[in-house]
This record gives sequence, C-alpha cells and structure tokens, in this order.
Amino acid sequence: MGEVHEIPVRSGAGFTLDAGRRLTVIDPRGCQVSDLLAYSRDDVREVISSGRTLDYAETIRLTTGHLLYSNRSRPMLEIVEDTVGRHDFLLTPCSYDTFHHFYPDLPPHRGCFGNLAEALAPWGVTEDMIPVAFNCFMNVPVDGASGKLEVLPPTSAAGDHITFEARMDLVIGLTACSAPASNGGSFKPIHYRID
Ligand SMILES: [Zn+2]
Repeated sequence: MGEVHEIPVRSGAGFTLDAGRRLTVIDPRGCQVSDLLAYSRDDVREVISSGRTLDYAETIRLTTGHLLYSNRSRPMLEIVEDTVGRHDFLLTPCSYDTFHHFYPDLPPHRGCFGNLAEALAPWGVTEDMIPVAFNCFMNVPVDGASGKLEVLPPTSAAGDHITFEARMDLVIGLTACSAPASNGGSFKPIHYRID
C-alpha cells in the first residue's frame, strides 16, 4: 500500500497519477467533502467533464463501476471501490464568490476553487480551466419532481473512502473542502493514497 498523504483543513494538493494506478480518497474523521479534478497530462485542455459523464452514466448517483469521462469523451478515471455511494458531480468548487453568495456574514475564503488553482498552476492550469469537480462525499439530494437541490452534511463516517483507477496519465487536483454547509459545519482534513 502507498503512503497516506494528508491535505490539511481548507487546503488543496496537486499531483500526477499514472495510467493504471489507483487513487484512494479517504475521509479520516467523517462528514468531510473532497473536490477532485483530473486533467490529461499530455494536454491539460482535456479535463474531467460532469456533462459527458452524467450523460453516459444516465444517472447522477455515480459509484463503483462508473467511468468519469473527459470533455473529449475519453475515460479518465474508473470508480473501483466506494464505501459511501453518495457523491456530487453537479456543483462547481466553492470559491470567494460562493462565500459572498451563501455566507455574506462569514469571513470570505478562496475555497476549493482558489486552492485548486494554486495547486494546479505548475501544470499550466488557470482559473478559467476549472470545471465542475467530482465532489467526493458531497451530499446533494435532488427532488426528482421539482428539481430542487439541497446541500446536506456528508453521510461518510471516519475511514470511509472512494478509489479511482486512472485510465490515462493524469494531473489530479484534490481538496479538503472549505464550505460550511457541505461539511456539516466543521472543517476536517482529507487523506489520500496512491497504489
Ligand atoms: Zn469546497
């Protein structure tokens, strides 16, 4: 097993993941979201795509066996293990603007968006290249009749995890999310491991 890395509270990390390797994202304390982005290492204009993925999966409830596709309709990651079964692929990373919108009375924070932009800058990724992230453990139920969205606390418990297998050489951005509602009102670290 690979070494376990910690992403501190309200921060992010960038790293490479070779084709065939597995990335496990762990919620060490429970009830904590982690935003994941993936870019092709050969050309970072190829990026994980919520729209392509949800279209091909024909569901918004992605779990073991589902593929995460790029904007060029190529598989980037396969979910090979998932102890939670509740993640979000509809919403963009939290940002300064998110904080102004939802939490005008709280000190603003650059959020996952700013953390991802800084972590991915060494590979030439800029803010305008950040799409909807795959939000591990984020609990966003959708009312099927009205379409109303809610952001509820994650259902993940301490030690829960999701494992992805890379289908191409990737650059990964990963966070410990900074938004109060997404994380049940408190901020915890995230752990990850590459095998
Ligand atoms: Zn966030």
